[in-house]
Amino acid sequence: MNKTAKKVLVVEDSRSVNEQLVLSIGSQLYIDVEAAYSLEEAKQILDTQSDKFFVAVLDLNLPDAPNGEIVDFVLDIGIPPIILTGNISDDLHDTMMNKPIIDYVLKRNLNEIEYVVEIIRRLRDNRGRKVLVVDDSNSARELMVSLLRRYNLEVFEASNGHDALKILDDNDDIILIITDYNMPKMDGMQLTAKVRKKFSRNELAIIGISTTGSGTISLNLLKSGANDFLPRPFIHEEFYCRVNQNIDAVVSYRILTDAADRDFLTGLFNRKYIFKTGEKLFQNAKRSNFTLTVAMIDIDYFKMINDTYGHQVGDMVLNNVASIFFEQLRAADVIARIGGDEFCLLCVNIDKDSDAELLFERLRKMITDYPLEIKDQTVSVTVSIGYTTVLRDTLDHMIRDADTALYEAKEKGRNKVVRFME
Ligand code: GH3
Ligand code: MG
Repeated sequence: MNKTAKKVLVVEDSRSVNEQLVLSIGSQLYIDVEAAYSLEEAKQILDTQSDKFFVAVLDLNLPDAPNGEIVDFVLDIGIPPIILTGNISDDLHDTMMNKPIIDYVLKRNLNEIEYVVEIIRRLRDNRGRKVLVVDDSNSARELMVSLLRRYNLEVFEASNGHDALKILDDNDDIILIITDYNMPKMDGMQLTAKVRKKFSRNELAIIGISTTGSGTISLNLLKSGANDFLPRPFIHEEFYCRVNQNIDAVVSYRILTDAADRDFLTGLFNRKYIFKTGEKLFQNAKRSNFTLTVAMIDIDYFKMINDTYGHQVGDMVLNNVASIFFEQLRAADVIARIGGDEFCLLCVNIDKDSDAELLFERLRKMITDYPLEIKDQTVSVTVSIGYTTVLRDTLDHMIRDADTALYEAKEKGRNKVVRFME
């Protein structure tokens, strides 16, 4: 999967379902959606932008492809599909289930659309989430690794407990370990016990895995600190259910515990955090020759929004803008609300200046394209962005440079991106 792929492709000939999907995905997830109504239309879209999609929602019965031909077409390009379709024959169902698809959803009512939106949300949020698979059998490990990668998780692998601990040492942000029981050097139980000395069940989930018929194994694993146990062989859907549940639990816990670093209204990082973490990022960037991009973002005429619609709507606008940032940026980027309507963004390793320009232009455009909709009102919002890629002696200096560029963006008429020039 292409890491910069940010769009969703919908191929569905029913106009109402297609439109509902595009609307729900756009308004709930702020993700760009391309809609096609036939295989031919999908081909045209993929011809020019095949690397832009991280998932496709596909109807199996299209006017020019009545037997699910679209699925292989999309799989060949490397886009994982969610299949959303009406009743089909058992044969076709079985054929589809044997393909590397994300999920299979039967179209019965509009609730299914919400279900599809939730899967897409998960795929998007999984980007940058790290999991570790530990198993000495290559084939068993490869199967789990490929299932997890399909869900967009960043997967590390080890063939025994010893190697697993080494990987964990270098990646303390791993949120889930899936481990086999019997392994050379260090087995799953010893590994679990060792991991628990450093991370609680809330901070890092462990799922033990072993062949059925071995009751004491699951008990041993759970007693040494595993959160869950999955007997082998498992069906893929159960594997995903358990993985998702365990990830959700850890993510909610981590969100709660880092509340002190968060801005209460938007859930973004706060001013205190950006100076604490920002300094570390800055020192690292300097030492390792990473690039660092610093941006200051300010909502245009925000006072007027408060005056026109009231403070509460102003708060909703702040939240709306914050979710767009949150959803468009990578896990490694740090975005903070540092003043009333002012945000600061630190990005590591944007390779080229032109990529920074594209990123900020995209952000600016997303904010104008997804205004806040309340009841029958649309509250349009624009932002001005100033950024710098010039590495200075202190982070503070870079922030001041970005602020200078922001000031210029405001002067030039607002709703603009300006790059700081020495
Ligand atoms: P400009 O385009 O020059 O940025 O104009 P502006 O109106 O946005 O000016 P400025 O950035 O100075 O305005 C910030 C406003 O943000 C002033 C303040 O009343 C409002 N504000 C600050 N914190 C909050 C908040 O938490 N909620 C709401 N609703 N408003 C806030
Ligand atoms: Mg402002």
